[in-house]
Amino acid sequence: MERKGKVYLVGSGPGGMGLLTVRAMEVIAGAEVILFDQLPGEEILSALPAHAEKIDCGKYGNRHTLEQEEIEDLMVRYAREGKQVVRLKGGDPFVFGRGGEEMEVLRMNDIQVELVPGVTSAVAVPGAVGIPLTHRKYASQVTILTGHEDPTKPESALDWELLARGRGTIVILMGVKNLPMIAGALVANGKDPETPVAIIERGLRKDQRVTTGPLREIGAIAGDAGVKPPAVIVIGDVVRLYREGDPWLIPL
Ligand code: SAH
Repeated sequence: MERKGKVYLVGSGPGGMGLLTVRAMEVIAGAEVILFDQLPGEEILSALPAHAEKIDCGKYGNRHTLEQEEIEDLMVRYAREGKQVVRLKGGDPFVFGRGGEEMEVLRMNDIQVELVPGVTSAVAVPGAVGIPLTHRKYASQVTILTGHEDPTKPESALDWELLARGRGTIVILMGVKNLPMIAGALVANGKDPETPVAIIERGLRKDQRVTTGPLREIGAIAGDAGVKPPAVIVIGDVVRLYREGDPWLIPL
């Protein structure tokens, strides 16, 4: 009988072994092929098992090592060969990870998929620096959005007016480049310019850094500080809970 291949869509968490799930470790250990992104980070990538075939699908800024379609073709091809394939992504595969698209392609090709959820950076990175996304006093709702789109472009899929009116926490992934435009769009649509913002670069890694400021200034502050991706941006009153160098908050 033909051996059945299977694809595991695996989230690695925000970086570092500590937040990799037990199930993720199990399936990585049993993988014959691992298609990995760069986002999982050095610690996890350098510990991938020697016996597995490893393929770098990473995205380095604008230069994509492999295009999305090629990655999907590879997953399908290896699974058809009967291989146990791990598709390893940063955070959770279904939070801006294109995991949903990959699942659809696998389904269309009658290939078994198992989702191994990961700890998403959207929640864990702010949390690790003492910023809870919800708090009875400050926020009862959270919106997670991609900052990939320039809000000044007419085709922006996001409703900036609605976002500016909302009272909860806004979390932005992939937002470093467009932060000045995003902050400008929120203020232009009526969001309080004094709303506190925190930018957490390389969260939960050794070289993590936090930059804060009011919405009206955050674009310039980030520019001056030389903020670079990957970073999670948090906008909202929960940022008031952040304490620089908090001695009571023990880092991972
Ligand atoms: N699926 C991932 C997100 C992929 S989009 C998840 O659930 O976390 C990539 C974006 O995630 C980055 O641009 C950045 O905004 C964020 N990100 C992921 N890991 C991060 C980390 N360790 N520190 C800061 N931001 C991170």
